[in-house]
Amino acid sequence: MDFTDRVRGALLGGALGDALGWPIEFQRLDQIRARFGPDGLTDLADAGLGGQVTDDTQMTLFTAEGLLRGGRPEDLHAAYRRWFLTQRLPEPGRDPDGWLAAQDFLYASRAPGNACTTGVATDYRPAAPFGQDGPVNPGSKGCGTVMRSAPFGLFGLGPQEAFRQAAVAAQLTHGHPTGYLAAGAFAALVARVAAGTPLRAALDAVLAQVDAQYLGQETGDALRRAVRIADEGPGSAEGVERVGLGWIAEECLAVAVYAALAAPDARTALVLSVNHSGDSDSTGAVCGNLVGALHGLSGLPADWCALVEGRDVVLQVADDLVTASTHGDRSALAARYPQAAVAAAAPAPAAPPATVVVPADPSGRTRFRQRDTGV
Ligand SMILES: [Mg+2]
Repeated sequence: MDFTDRVRGALLGGALGDALGWPIEFQRLDQIRARFGPDGLTDLADAGLGGQVTDDTQMTLFTAEGLLRGGRPEDLHAAYRRWFLTQRLPEPGRDPDGWLAAQDFLYASRAPGNACTTGVATDYRPAAPFGQDGPVNPGSKGCGTVMRSAPFGLFGLGPQEAFRQAAVAAQLTHGHPTGYLAAGAFAALVARVAAGTPLRAALDAVLAQVDAQYLGQETGDALRRAVRIADEGPGSAEGVERVGLGWIAEECLAVAVYAALAAPDARTALVLSVNHSGDSDSTGAVCGNLVGALHGLSGLPADWCALVEGRDVVLQVADDLVTASTHGDRSALAARYPQAAVAAAAPAPAAPPATVVVPADPSGRTRFRQRDTGV
């Protein structure tokens, strides 16, 4: 399996999980079982919504677009503003800003999160040093950070830089340290898995990254809980709900990891990741990103891939990420991903914080380690 197959799998897998979870996002497990039977919703064809995707897939595509249109935090902010416009308009305007914003299927508003919408409505503000509250929605750690961050791990950045850039961009909407550190952890995990590292080894490495961060403990504890419960036996909805319900960032990541570990293949993992009383489309999307990177496009259920909304666009974006990150022929990219004239003319952005500023810790139990500030 090559890198392209993994990148395609990661993006399309996310769309599959999003589409599978969307019809049951606001249903409890007992309601899901009453509606679909004791195994819950097990087939995208049964979901009844024609493979619709939601804000998770939409924002993931705009994350990729932001990377392809410059990659600075300001470029990510501009990309999320273009996503925000899709939530306010019925269809693309007369002169859409770029190829992605011209895609009709993105102009659907399907329960986007509050922090994401209010955050991107805010003017651009630079990220705070890791370990401090971010400037936008400082108390928020909803899963809207994690569910959109896979592309940072699919852009050839490497796990350290994927972590840093995802966590910085997460602060555009969510300021709680766990909200943005969990996004960093997810991007780093996707980067490692997409590079071919086995899932367990990738998790160990990401846990070391997380543990090196001041205030990384909530994310690390959630990941360790996912591994521990996955090791107890076969995956189950009850197991998922012991890991978490996925409304908050670290639990969303942990549910995805649990499902990926506890299931033998992508289809089983996706089913496991959405059948619970929590945020099913986001846990499905994040799990889909992860198992897609792990098993590749060729490992995803082909019948679901044929059904999911926006498949051709998702695969084009995946191929564009690969092209841009691997010395492919980039001539077609400029037309799809115009660099804004203002952005192109702007001076180089200020360097992001190279070292973590550690607030005073009266308890003396600071988990920060100086040598790991490269994350
Ligand atoms: Mg959603």
